[in-house]
Amino acid sequence: MTSTDLLIIGSGPVGSAFARLIGEQRPGTSITMIELGPQVSTPAGTNVRNLPPEERDAAREASQGPSGGVRGDSARSLQVEGTVISPGGTYIASPGHQAGMPAAALSACVGGMGVHWTCATPRPNDDERIDVIPSGELDAALEEAERLMHVTTLPENPYGSAIKSLLREHFSGVLPEDRMPDGLPMSAIPQPDGSIRWGGADTILGDTPVTLRAETIARRLILDGARVVGAEVEHIPTGEREVVEAKAVVVAANALQTPQLLWASGIRPDPLGRYFTEHVLVYSVVALSDEVVQRAGIDTPVKELVKDPTASTFGIPYTAGVHPYRTQVMHMADAPFPVDESAVGVGAARYVAMGNGVRKFPRVEDRVVFSDAETDRWGMPQLSIEYEVTDRELAEVDAAMADLRAVAQSIGSFVPGGEPRLMPAGTSLHYKGTVRMGDDGGAASVVDTRSRVWGFENLFLGGNGLIPTATVTNPTLTSVALAVRAVPALREQLDG
Ligand SMILES: Cc1cc2nc3c(=O)[nH]c(=O)nc-3n(C[C@H](O)[C@H](O)[C@H](O)COP(=O)(O)OP(=O)(O)OC[C@H]3O[C@@H](n4cnc5c(N)ncnc54)[C@H](O)[C@@H]3O)c2cc1C
Repeated sequence: MTSTDLLIIGSGPVGSAFARLIGEQRPGTSITMIELGPQVSTPAGTNVRNLPPEERDAAREASQGPSGGVRGDSARSLQVEGTVISPGGTYIASPGHQAGMPAAALSACVGGMGVHWTCATPRPNDDERIDVIPSGELDAALEEAERLMHVTTLPENPYGSAIKSLLREHFSGVLPEDRMPDGLPMSAIPQPDGSIRWGGADTILGDTPVTLRAETIARRLILDGARVVGAEVEHIPTGEREVVEAKAVVVAANALQTPQLLWASGIRPDPLGRYFTEHVLVYSVVALSDEVVQRAGIDTPVKELVKDPTASTFGIPYTAGVHPYRTQVMHMADAPFPVDESAVGVGAARYVAMGNGVRKFPRVEDRVVFSDAETDRWGMPQLSIEYEVTDRELAEVDAAMADLRAVAQSIGSFVPGGEPRLMPAGTSLHYKGTVRMGDDGGAASVVDTRSRVWGFENLFLGGNGLIPTATVTNPTLTSVALAVRAVPALREQLDG
């Protein structure tokens, strides 16, 4: 048996944020972090984009769980008709048990999905915000999350500036001034040589002292009335089991495996796994017009201009009632799938991949359920997804496609095969709601407004699963902000 002050289950950005905050605010706290996946990047949890190119594919492969499952594809591409793949570094979550959400995928590695993510960290707007948290408190928590995640807006290259100015002209008079297309806030640290250190669990954790146990799975939480006293963990390669005792426990094991661990531990409130949402995704690829090149005033091929395959990223924010989507515009030298360039006449500015995230409204029927009889590849209760995109969302999808068509016309034209299309459910990789936050005592929520599981004193949850609202904004910044708000209550438990 091992004893620790704080046990954190899951080593992604959110688990790392909890560790960092406790390390800063309560020095001397012993923190043990359990992660079922292996360490695939150095420093532990660093974004694969910080690795030399020749090491990236191996790191992605190693994050995809035991072999034999449905694997990710290191070159993220549009899905070939009839098959669903997940991007490199992820694995299809529960093959054969997720018909309603075929693209739902997870990462299993130190740093979690934060090793593979794009680093977009915008704030939620309007009714996306979590209204059970006072507005000023939410803003303060988001600001602190931005500090932890090194959120910045990256410098613009001339093509990026030209794209942005054309987008702004398109939305002039439609969107309010503070919601105009702009450089997307990113979790990134620009380096003196012009390269970028992309954000991940490592940049959040900093030099916080943590005992990290990779390839170790939490099998169940050990409960004593209204308290959790620790967890039974297993080192996967050796099968050795052990109890880790703790004064307080945080489960930050993503929106599918957090409720799974609660279920496995006998914590089964009715809302567990329900109100499952994501961002319904409409995706397109545009060859940029000569006007972009003329406006940029240069003709240097974009590949020579910037070091990263994504030259710049712009966002068009969610604005309730006016622009109920979040548009992500990624400027790239190469299209995400092979394009017959003779047919599109693409110039030096090259391509953008452009998507609209569309709201999925929470419904009690959309849920992840767990089996007492079958187990998954990790030996945990088999999870199945019951989920449906309804007419309510499809109406917004139609409008989002029309929006993308109009936006595309202002900067270029779709490449063949790049016209707006509805991606398979799960493609967003932003899964929410399954352990949602509320102030209703647990009637339709799993945690209170300090992320504490209803009915427990010292059991806290973290991650996108807590987000209760219909959102289109990338969720990780919000989830880190929720961790920020949980920490005072967590500290009380560590002090007690
Ligand atoms: C390709 C890609 C691009 C993305 N782009 C963006 C973006 O631009 N912006 C954005 O906001 N989000 C993005 N995301 C999503 C983002 O990465 C997640 O929101 C974020 O990583 C969530 O952090 P987390 O710590 O809650 O969970 P995760 O990062 O999923 O980490 C949870 C960890 O818990 C571990 N775990 C699960 N169960 C157990 C158990 N029983 N015992 C021990 N360990 C366990 C898992 O192995 C995992 O490593 C992207 C994701 C991907 C894959």
